[in-house]
Amino acid sequence: MKIAVIGTGYVGLVSGTCFAAWGHEVVCVDKNAQKINNLERGIVPIYEPGLDELVERNSAVGRLRFTCNLAEALAGASTIFIAVGTPPRAGHGDADLSFVYMAARELAPLIDDDAVVVIKSTVPVGTGDVVQKIIESVRKTGTFSVASNPEFLREGVAIRDFLEPDRVVIGVEDERGRKVLMELYSAPLEARKTPIVVTQRRTSELIKYAANAFLATKITFINELADLCEQVGSNVSELALGMGLDKRIGTSFLNAGPGYGGSCFPKDTMALLRTAQDYGVAVRIVEETVTANEARKRRMALKVVDALDGDIEGRTIAVLGLTFKPDTDDMRDAPSVPLIETLQRFGAIIHAHDPVGMENASRILSDVEFFDDAYECAHNADAVVVITEWDSIRKIDLARLKQTMRQAVLIDLRNAFEQGVAEQIGFRVSAIGRSTTA
Ligand code: NAD
Repeated sequence: MKIAVIGTGYVGLVSGTCFAAWGHEVVCVDKNAQKINNLERGIVPIYEPGLDELVERNSAVGRLRFTCNLAEALAGASTIFIAVGTPPRAGHGDADLSFVYMAARELAPLIDDDAVVVIKSTVPVGTGDVVQKIIESVRKTGTFSVASNPEFLREGVAIRDFLEPDRVVIGVEDERGRKVLMELYSAPLEARKTPIVVTQRRTSELIKYAANAFLATKITFINELADLCEQVGSNVSELALGMGLDKRIGTSFLNAGPGYGGSCFPKDTMALLRTAQDYGVAVRIVEETVTANEARKRRMALKVVDALDGDIEGRTIAVLGLTFKPDTDDMRDAPSVPLIETLQRFGAIIHAHDPVGMENASRILSDVEFFDDAYECAHNADAVVVITEWDSIRKIDLARLKQTMRQAVLIDLRNAFEQGVAEQIGFRVSAIGRSTTA
């Protein structure tokens, strides 16, 4: 199959590369010339484990190409994926669809007859209808199809998620769209018996938001239970295990922490709320989830202040981990940002370390001193705050860390360390959902 992917970001690049790995001929197109230039030279613009190698391998055999020229990308393509960003609209919270609509307007005059345009970006219900109308304004109805195929990959494990998904969701309004997408997914996923859920386009669009809102709610649930654990002397990790081993509940997404962040959950929960408001429907649980998560992110700074006896003015705080989760360089809506900014407002001096996120973080944060080495980051610090549980951070030698610090205070917002071990070494510890010694 000849495939074009519009938008070469986290989703477009991973999807395009994986389609090529399945043997298709793929052209990835993006407006960002620097990104395309780099990719043409084999430089992958994002940190995603395994992606460099897969891009290199598929580019080398000519199955994967990159261009800024949309007409070139669309020539002969039977399937065109739209994978551009749908960020939150500033001040509104609903999804900004201008990139999607722009892509639709640009591709409309260039596609071949019988092409299937597939929206992979996360878009509110009804967006497919609008894209259909945009294309119909320049093409004859019935000569093309518009389908929905939301993406569920997680950054950090994106390739595995794409190649071995739990399910694929396809939203189609005609036989052409169904046939092309079934052909694309069914053969490579047959061996694993991966379910392919075929629905109407509007249901498919909503599935993505429902799934993300549910996961955000699950995280928020365990976070609130963690607060209760702290008050009643219980341990949230054991609580989560005891709950999660019930198959109806499941253990994943029950790790209490500083609140969810990232490029999807905050924006998708907000966008779902806006859709529900537009249609006059109450989705109160999602509303409460959004409110509770925002409040939680702010409260995390107070946890640091409390651990330092109520005053952090002029104190040096070493932050370990900045990205919204491990194994990605993505800083979009990372909980580290409001936390650090609040600590700075209270007068703290911030040192920070992250294995790959510091370049992106330095574009967002100001007055932060960045360190490649975690131990240097903690040198003369009054407290260490763990925000992202990278493997390399979990492996830190706490005894060595303590030696370099001014005072041994550990605020572990990911429960990355064994509290008892840290205390034995001499740290005062404030963790999530367990009794504190800080
Ligand atoms: P991104 O910001 O990393 O990439 C978007 C790319 O689209 C950018 O490179 C941009 O230059 C390009 N672009 C914008 N308009 C264009 C146009 N008209 N023509 C060509 N290129 C254009 O975004 P992302 O994180 O890959 O997310 C893309 C979509 O996938 C979003 O809707 C997001 O919600 C959804 N999604 C993201 C993830 C994730 O983990 N990042 C997971 C599932 C779904």
